[in-house]
Amino acid sequence: MTTAYVNGQVIDGRGRAFQGYVIVDGDRIAEVGPGSAPALGEAVTRRDLSGKSILPGLIDCHVHLRNDGVADPRAQAAADTDAVAVLRSARNARRTLEAGITTIRDCGSRGGIDFALRTAAQQGLCPTPRLVLSGLMICMTGGHGWPLGCEADGPDGLRRAARAQIKAGADNVKLIASGGILTPGTEIGAPQFTIEEMRAAVDEAHAAGKTSCAHAHGTTAIKNAVKAGVDSVEHGYLIDDEGIELMLERGTYLVATSAAVRNVVKHGIAAGIRPDVVRKAESAIERHIDGFKRAYKAGVKLAMGTDTGVPFTDHGNNLDEVVYLVEMGLSPMEALSATTIAAAKLLHMDDRVGSLEAGKLADFVVIDGDPLADVRVLQDKRRILTVAVGGKTMVEREAVTR
Ligand SMILES: [Zn+2]
Repeated sequence: MTTAYVNGQVIDGRGRAFQGYVIVDGDRIAEVGPGSAPALGEAVTRRDLSGKSILPGLIDCHVHLRNDGVADPRAQAAADTDAVAVLRSARNARRTLEAGITTIRDCGSRGGIDFALRTAAQQGLCPTPRLVLSGLMICMTGGHGWPLGCEADGPDGLRRAARAQIKAGADNVKLIASGGILTPGTEIGAPQFTIEEMRAAVDEAHAAGKTSCAHAHGTTAIKNAVKAGVDSVEHGYLIDDEGIELMLERGTYLVATSAAVRNVVKHGIAAGIRPDVVRKAESAIERHIDGFKRAYKAGVKLAMGTDTGVPFTDHGNNLDEVVYLVEMGLSPMEALSATTIAAAKLLHMDDRVGSLEAGKLADFVVIDGDPLADVRVLQDKRRILTVAVGGKTMVEREAVTR
């Protein structure tokens, strides 16, 4: 089946925007161009996109489908049976799709529920974005995330832990390089794994053709992770200039998850978040915003990620992050590139997704309005009119008359 999307603003994911058309044939993009579409036969369905924009399917490089953005996601995860957790993950995956996100990287699940969800999705049991999965996050004994992760110590221990996640089906090996906001008894500035430990796991990931990312807040932890060769630093809230230099040298991506720290600070203890969690977030937020701005100005590669599934960062609100990226200095076009082609490159998927180009998979979003003129249109789900994954329409909404 061939469909021509015509008369719309095409934001192609490669930094270009123009009035034009996109022709989708089956699961692929057949043609993209400026101006009016070439004459097409009767069999081709035409969709008029006047006043609308068509974008590549959007990508969130850091989510946790296993929990909702409740005040205490750890308690929720502990209480869920695996059966409930799979259903919760499926519901969260659908909400993510409805927000215009067509690919997600889950940065840590538990009990194999992420792999179960992928199997179910492959069998057509539930709609999901494309899933890039990590299995269990790997932390040191007592490290951040230990109640839900896989504890490992020493280079051999990490090598084994990485191999186990890959064996289970992981596309990405998630390492914990520093303490975290949500784990009691760990401080965000404290480094956890050594460089040698992380390098063993990263080498295993790369040898298997997979990626590796590290949760890292503290200045030392960020440098350790970059030196160990991770593809992306997650959060990076306390990054310093030396860390920025190292990331530039190595081409490491920063996945800033600004939404996560902002939502903890915004909702606070009054909303039921633990006091130690709020204290840590409050101690980090200004340094995060300052460090992010310096990293952006220095030219560090950026990919969009939210940490959805932490307190009050809920599935379906993923595109709040794009607005925050713009608030912190990116142009709307740069923020959209971080959410499309740059994210696809980080995930090693840019040969298939991340831009509107002939031959790529037809992952795309139709938005009512112009996100380049006002990026906040992305936050209004009524404006996310069509979401397609591999040419298959997953979400279709009527435009609201204004
Ligand atoms: Zn996370």
